[in-house]
Amino acid sequence: MIQKIILILCLFIATACKGQSQVVEEKKAYIFPNTSIVASIPEECIKKDGDQLINAASGFESFLLNIVADEVTVKDENNYGQQFNKVLKKDLLLVIDSNLIQLQTLLKKLTKHIERKDIIYTIALVKNDSDVNAWTHAGGFIYVTTGLMNFVNSEDELAFCIAHEIGHNENEHCKASVQRIKTAENMGVSSDLSGMASAVYSTIFAAFNQPQEMESDLAGVYLAYKAGYDPEKALDFFDKLSANEEPNALEKMMRSHPFASERKTCLQNYLNNAVQ
Ligand SMILES: [Zn+2]
Repeated sequence: MIQKIILILCLFIATACKGQSQVVEEKKAYIFPNTSIVASIPEECIKKDGDQLINAASGFESFLLNIVADEVTVKDENNYGQQFNKVLKKDLLLVIDSNLIQLQTLLKKLTKHIERKDIIYTIALVKNDSDVNAWTHAGGFIYVTTGLMNFVNSEDELAFCIAHEIGHNENEHCKASVQRIKTAENMGVSSDLSGMASAVYSTIFAAFNQPQEMESDLAGVYLAYKAGYDPEKALDFFDKLSANEEPNALEKMMRSHPFASERKTCLQNYLNNAVQ
């Protein structure tokens, strides 16, 4: 009888332990290049013909810009960033609530691991439930819509989105918009806020090309992981985004953002190579 009870007890403990081991997810360890500044995009992310063409076009644009434009310092990025923010804020309905506190806390965790310490990152929550979006411009200004807050399923996904925007600043993608505006000013274009508004809109929202988006994705998973988040949740985010996309070559050429499915494939390979 006692043996029977001991046997039942053992079986119960074994079953309980087995059940528990299924619930607790093992935290994966990754080894990424130790910087938020991306040295190069992995080949598998740019191997298609269309991508090579886009890369060549964006390389030519920055080549031209470097010839005609003045040098842009970090001080320029911060100063122009303040002005861009003034222009944008006029058209945005900003929200101050507990979601903003969450975003600010998240930003603080992520920016502990940045390289460009002279950029003062700030974040704003924009009331727009129908637009799932986040964006950034020079000087470390990041904007997140309420639509994105509702769209993400976890703080890990949100951390990736914000880290992606930080990645644009870390990898100096935002510098090009400052270069364009600064050059325009030097050529006599008005620099007051009303004169600057249309230039700001056209240059900020056309600022990033597909390779830059890929770079920011890589910086995003690096920063999210460093701050203690699960970088694989970025894949869940792209799964949801790609639900309404049908990639074709022509549309891809017209877009500044790569398709979510391609970004997911790129990140999946990147994470597979980095996992220990
Ligand atoms: Zn982006």
